[in-house]
Amino acid sequence: EQDDVWTADRIRAADRDYVIHSWSRQGAVNALPVAGGSGAWFWDHDGNRYLDFQSQLVNLNLGHQHPRLVAAIQEQAARLCYIGPGFAERSRAELAEALAHLTPGDLTMSFFTTGGAAANENAIRLARHVTDRDKVIARYRSYHGATAGAMSLTGDPRRWAAEPGLPGVVRMFDPYTYRCPAGHPDPCPVCTGGPHLEEILRYEDPGRVAAVVVETVTGTNGLIYPPDGYLRSLREVCDRYGILLIFDEVMAGFGRTGEWFACDHWGVVPDILTTAKGLNSGYVPLGAMTVSAAIGDWLRDNHFWGGLTYAGHPLACASGVASLKIMKDEDVVGNARRQGELLGSRLAELAERHPSIGDVRGRGLFYGVELVTDRATREPLVPFNGKGAAAEPVSRIVKEAMRRGLYLSANFNVLRLTPPLVIDAEEIGLAVEILDDVLGIADEYYEG
Ligand code: PLP
Repeated sequence: EQDDVWTADRIRAADRDYVIHSWSRQGAVNALPVAGGSGAWFWDHDGNRYLDFQSQLVNLNLGHQHPRLVAAIQEQAARLCYIGPGFAERSRAELAEALAHLTPGDLTMSFFTTGGAAANENAIRLARHVTDRDKVIARYRSYHGATAGAMSLTGDPRRWAAEPGLPGVVRMFDPYTYRCPAGHPDPCPVCTGGPHLEEILRYEDPGRVAAVVVETVTGTNGLIYPPDGYLRSLREVCDRYGILLIFDEVMAGFGRTGEWFACDHWGVVPDILTTAKGLNSGYVPLGAMTVSAAIGDWLRDNHFWGGLTYAGHPLACASGVASLKIMKDEDVVGNARRQGELLGSRLAELAERHPSIGDVRGRGLFYGVELVTDRATREPLVPFNGKGAAAEPVSRIVKEAMRRGLYLSANFNVLRLTPPLVIDAEEIGLAVEILDDVLGIADEYYEG
């Protein structure tokens, strides 16, 4: 009965009065009360259904309310909700073992966190201790989380509000082949990675650089895929100077790009891999830092200076174990690959009809559609700046899609298409139809 008192209006009012929302001016927030979800869909209290083409924060890889995942959490809750990180516990041990087998190369031991930021935080601290060096190199078009260290690694303008951040972070450019950040023609020394990194090292003293941290495929900041050879050339330069290579696959990992890990596309193995989101579809907060055998050996003899009350939380780890089993049993990675091919071909058709589509890039279910006002000059539909990601008219495209039942996201001029990996062909078709409609808004601004 108490539940009945919480009408949609009451939820909306309490949310507005008492909840602080991420990355927003609170007076501008008008959050939609959501009543439930299933698979690729969620719905509000009035029965309006929305096709979730974001997977929420690109974490809900198994979609909403997967019954086996819900049951696994319920079972663990009935068995043991919590035990301190100092004890050995079945779900925690089982998940760590499963990750050692699933992750590429000799990545072996894992430290579990409550999310991606904490995984990155621990990764850079550990890298500094292992190497006894202080500098860390990260990229501009990156997002690594909102804690102090992770935000310092982050390149996108949200970092500005947290500056001055962690000392010792040095920035490099991104392999953004559609618009080379240094204005070079293709192939360019920035986009090929190694030469650009080596040039920076020359000025930073390579003997002081502990780690290079990159998203293997840039997620939030525009779905940027590195050209073939890029990650390998970073690997070679890091090896030459004894620098640890950290891959942040918080968003790109666990089937998102049609492989278990995005780095599997190129066969490049990092020294430290950070994950979260798709690791357990976020049903319970969870992240992981998984380290190479060499770092594992180092940890046998040296102190690990990190810890969290909820490190290896049993409910989170149980959901991780179940999530990996479901992904294998239901060939979720294969589905991401197959549906991704469909999505890619349908987006290519849209690009033929909509001049405002400057570039379509993606693999698996990790696609970006870059909107421009001129295909020849590649002038972006809205500029990349510090004013936030929802500028007109992109904000109108997103709003209009939502009004038609498609939940979309965008970063400046790049629409991000990242549906749950359990989506089917019919749902992709529906999303593409709605996209076809709303892209008319972008076409009105076309000047080319
Ligand atoms: N790293 C990447 C690549 C991400 O996309 C995100 C979140 O979007 C994070 C780290 C931070 O993860 P969390 O929000 O779980 O702290």
